[in-house]
Amino acid sequence: MALASDAASEAVFEHDVVRNLICRQARYPDIATPQDWYMALAYTVRDRMLARWAESVKNYALHHVKVACYLSAEFLIGPQLGCNLLNLGLEEEAREAMDSLGQDLDALLAIEEEPGLGNGGLGRLAACYLDSLASLEIPAIGYGIRYEFGIFDQDIVDGWQVERTDKWLKMGTPWEIIRPDIHYYVSFGGYTRMWNDEQGRLRVEWVPGRQVKGVAYDVPVQGYRVNTCNVLRLWKSEAVESFDFDDFNAGDYYEAVEEKVVSETLSKVLYPNDEPESGKRLRLAQQYFFVSCALQDMLRLMEVSHTPVERFADRFAAQLNDTHPSIAVAELMRLLIDERLLSWEDAWSITQRTFAYTNHTLLPEALETWSLPLMQSMLPRLVEIIFEINQRFLDEVRRAQPGDEGSVARMSLIDEQGDKKVRMAHLATVGSHKVNGVAALHSDLLKQTILRDFAAMFPSRFLNVTNGVTPRRFIMQSNPGLARLLDDTLGEKWRTDLTRLDALADHADDATLQKAWRAVRRENKAKLAARIGNITGIAVPPEMMFDIQVKRIHEYKRQHLNALHIISLYQRLRRDPTLDVAPRCFIFGGKAAPGYDMAKLMIRLISGIAEVVNQDPATRDRLKVVFYPDFNVKNGHIIYPAADLSEQISTAGKEASGTGNMKFMMNGALTIGTLDGANVEIREQAGADNFFLFGMTAQQVAALQQSGYRPGHYLEANEALREALDEIAQGRFSRGDKTMFRPLLDNLLNADPFLVLADFADYAACQQRVSEVWRDEKRWARMSIINTARSGAFSSDRAIKEYCENIWQTRAVKIDLAAP
Ligand SMILES: *Cc1c(COP(=O)(O)O)cnc(C)c1O
Repeated sequence: MALASDAASEAVFEHDVVRNLICRQARYPDIATPQDWYMALAYTVRDRMLARWAESVKNYALHHVKVACYLSAEFLIGPQLGCNLLNLGLEEEAREAMDSLGQDLDALLAIEEEPGLGNGGLGRLAACYLDSLASLEIPAIGYGIRYEFGIFDQDIVDGWQVERTDKWLKMGTPWEIIRPDIHYYVSFGGYTRMWNDEQGRLRVEWVPGRQVKGVAYDVPVQGYRVNTCNVLRLWKSEAVESFDFDDFNAGDYYEAVEEKVVSETLSKVLYPNDEPESGKRLRLAQQYFFVSCALQDMLRLMEVSHTPVERFADRFAAQLNDTHPSIAVAELMRLLIDERLLSWEDAWSITQRTFAYTNHTLLPEALETWSLPLMQSMLPRLVEIIFEINQRFLDEVRRAQPGDEGSVARMSLIDEQGDKKVRMAHLATVGSHKVNGVAALHSDLLKQTILRDFAAMFPSRFLNVTNGVTPRRFIMQSNPGLARLLDDTLGEKWRTDLTRLDALADHADDATLQKAWRAVRRENKAKLAARIGNITGIAVPPEMMFDIQVKRIHEYKRQHLNALHIISLYQRLRRDPTLDVAPRCFIFGGKAAPGYDMAKLMIRLISGIAEVVNQDPATRDRLKVVFYPDFNVKNGHIIYPAADLSEQISTAGKEASGTGNMKFMMNGALTIGTLDGANVEIREQAGADNFFLFGMTAQQVAALQQSGYRPGHYLEANEALREALDEIAQGRFSRGDKTMFRPLLDNLLNADPFLVLADFADYAACQQRVSEVWRDEKRWARMSIINTARSGAFSSDRAIKEYCENIWQTRAVKIDLAAP
């Protein structure tokens, strides 16, 4: 029964929805489409956030607080409406209001198009961090790019990935506020010249070849049940003038328009690769574009609050999310020296105190470098500054290690071998006061491998901050059944302090809780099964174990190891139909970079296995294989809560952290995994008994590769493996085509860079243990409950508190909402 005040506020809410429908959508209720209702509802929710936003901004300016700025080329924020309703505490009110208007809230949530402004884990991490910053009431700004086309949509056609352009803006988006008044100019090309100003100072002027205008598009970021509303500020590129009238008047209409086209291309499309693409001018231009806009914006904020520029590092902490924004180190130097006329020493001190750098990868092919000539032609002034930073830094190295020219060459910001390149990880490390890895193992390996010389020279600069994910989106919003059960069992304190889940472990053997636990999980699985049926036509019984691997498709993540095990299991079942194996549904999802042929072939292999296994009468009741197309945040909402088993099977030492592993754990999945990334800490938290461990350690992997790895050796020793590979070669999973999977097989047999064959036997044995434990319902439920109970450490709230304390020195600011 609703209280009178609830009824009143619901009536106001309903009134506001109708007003927005008419005033913003220009539709009256009788003819409104679901999209119109969605927009009207979204604007109604947004209005309530904007009041809080205004109050937050006012407070930050008034109290001269320090602001955490998160610089990231990607923010994979996912659908917004549900999370904003949750964070504002308006879910019930909205549901009832829409009900009175004859609209179903769930149907409206379902039509929301997600902004795919990221590739995967790195972009999703940035989004989780913004959620935690706002929820912890930390003043913060996210800075990124407003891509017109985000990550492509994935179709599966004849088993192959087909990319479709992501037109997330085609119906407009209610979540952004355009700020034409907040814009900056960014220079490209041209040359530099030196001159002496009136005071006799030596000055450098960058005479650009062209300029692009960056316009701010703001997305409000609402904290959970607090008044703090921060901002994600995304930059869109525009031509400086719509027409160059000189060209136009001279009759060269096309040249005038071309300038516009080139400028507007900058923020047009997200590069759909998890790794940097070498030599792509546009990619470097994107990076410099958004970073320059962000830093100019921060300097403007200093001005409007009348703070001298010397205090920049007291007012801003800027985190570099991987090396994508690392040109910021040189750009802040440029802005402080060339435009604010600070001395090199003062500017450098500010720069180092402002920036901190998060490394996300050790894979050599993923370490970003830029060709020096390319950078010189595009950013001539920045290269001069990078040279100066390098010279001063290498002098320091020489003073610390006299005569050690090997160190100098290794640590230089410029790779002098062959075509000269700028090493962005070195620039970020030298220009920052803190450098962190994203899981304990990864941070250790970082210090032992790619940044070893730097760690030796600046030991106190290095630290670990293990990644985290937001429990608002990944439990409360996507698994409401579990959230209610947790409330009933523990009270509601876990909602703002996830470590409180720990108390759940005391009830792990409680029969009543186990029953309720299984009911929730069963319902989540039925929902996913229904969705799979709709999308793929494959019927999957929810009683089966749901064994799920969803993440970008990559050789180091080893979806092919999973696939080989499925083939092997299928072969055993065919050979011995009485074999007592736990019925399982293997579910895969994930996008392959469009240019990554091997990854696309892995998708084709999984589809081929599904095609054969699902229709074979000998096995189809016990084995199902599904490739769920278009894995994204929205689909993740339904997938993560339905998993019994989480596949985290990367080659040890290759996955920096992983965050999918954490989302699964929170939702009660058990993990089968290697000692890689955050798996190590997940296992520590859950306890070794509640984690299915297999495979070589990072040390063993390195040793084996050092000593000359021979995949053939493992093949000879394992008949099951030979048979699995052989059946692929025979065309069984490619409709008889014996050439289709040749590149994949050749790669495994001759090189196997990610040690799939070396880890196969142990993986298969571990999967056997999984099947045995699955049969013991009570034991499995207990393990599942304990996994959720111990997942508190993987909240992004914990990670953000560590960034605030150990890197940013930022503090919470309570926002009181004056009566609107
Ligand atoms: C969490 C998430 C990822 C990262 O998954 P990993 O298993 O850590 O690689 C990628 N994509 C989406 C859509 C996600 O939500």
